[in-house]
Amino acid sequence: MISAAIKALRGIMDLIYPKLCHACLEERIFESNNIFCVKCHAALPYTDHFIRSENEMMNHFYGRVKVERAAALLYFREGGLVQQILHHFKYKGMQAIGEQLGRVAAEKMVETGFYRDIDCIVPVPMYSAKKRQRGFNQSEVLAKAISAGTNIPMEEGRLLKVKKTTSQTQKGRLERLENIQGSFIAPSSTDKRHSHVLLVDDVTTTGATLEACTAVLHQSGIEKVSIFSLAIAE
Ligand SMILES: [Zn+2]
Repeated sequence: MISAAIKALRGIMDLIYPKLCHACLEERIFESNNIFCVKCHAALPYTDHFIRSENEMMNHFYGRVKVERAAALLYFREGGLVQQILHHFKYKGMQAIGEQLGRVAAEKMVETGFYRDIDCIVPVPMYSAKKRQRGFNQSEVLAKAISAGTNIPMEEGRLLKVKKTTSQTQKGRLERLENIQGSFIAPSSTDKRHSHVLLVDDVTTTGATLEACTAVLHQSGIEKVSIFSLAIAE
């Protein structure tokens, strides 16, 4: 009773006292428990991948590596809202972005059955020195939120990045694949009881990183790999 009253009061307070929006960085009006203002929240370009199994995410992997299911939550456009949000998430340390959007993704996974028979969640790893420099791995923040929302354990040690790669942004698909091949390993001591892994990444452009990670997971004996990416380039 009391907690419901506090929650209602907090909702009202959020409307009265504007907070900083994690997307537009303006002081604006919020709905309770949201980190995006009402305007930005309404403008988020969601995909329909969770209800459409043949989708743009899956297209990246046909004929390349075997993937059970794949989905992205949002569309990413150069100069668009999602690019802005990803920038704040990765480079301004706004981890709440990953926490909130990971929670939204988990809700969709449960609602649509996307999460069924997945045994563990594995974030795309970051090279250790880079992670130290940034302070966190954004894919791990997402994976953790999805784990909390689906009750599926996260096991970040199943995949490691052992080689530093140069920036991928200016490279084409083949170049990217060559650039990252051999940079991921799945430790051989890995317990293979879990046979269906959900691989989690922040943004997908060519899919080369996810393709390399999926191949390594299969080689290590993991039978099924499904994929989630927070955003996909349009
Ligand atoms: Zn906003």
